[in-house]
Amino acid sequence: MTPIEKKLYDRSDSKCELCGSNDDLRIHLTKEEAISVDNSVLVCTTCKNQIENTTTTDPNHWRCLSDSMWNENKPVQVVAWRMLNRLRPEGWPQDLLDMMYLDEETLVWAAATGEGEDEEGKIVHKDGNGNILKDGDSVVLIKDLDVKGATFTAKRGAAVHNIKLVWDNADQIEGRVEGQHIVILTQYVKKTK
Ligand SMILES: [Zn+2]
Repeated sequence: MTPIEKKLYDRSDSKCELCGSNDDLRIHLTKEEAISVDNSVLVCTTCKNQIENTTTTDPNHWRCLSDSMWNENKPVQVVAWRMLNRLRPEGWPQDLLDMMYLDEETLVWAAATGEGEDEEGKIVHKDGNGNILKDGDSVVLIKDLDVKGATFTAKRGAAVHNIKLVWDNADQIEGRVEGQHIVILTQYVKKTK
């Protein structure tokens, strides 16, 4: 066993860090750089095969992420985030992603494989923190906004309920502020629920 393997086995208690299996453990490297404890995850063969081959991904296997996404080790968080993004069309992974928190640096690292991007060029709306917005979400404004064609300024902190995504523009949502229907740039809002 290499010193890195030894450390990973210690960190994971000799279990797959994603699903908890202790079957045939391997190292999965999360970055294109020299292998280290800080960029690697110890995974079972089932997890490893599915991570590396998108056509064999079995959504039910990945229910385990509801536990492992809370792992304190960054590389485990990165892989959990990537798999949840891959499985997002299933619905439940999106709910877990909504709960999950990655610091900015870890998010950039996780997104480096393009896993968070939408395949078919589908438009994804994200708030100022990078959280994905959906129709019906509530947001607050994080900046005073001059509203084009209106006589008022939408104030920072104002809540906008039941937003609607502008379907062909990832930077825009629509909602009501002070009774007026306005278009708001996603970068100036923060999702509240
Ligand atoms: Zn596993």
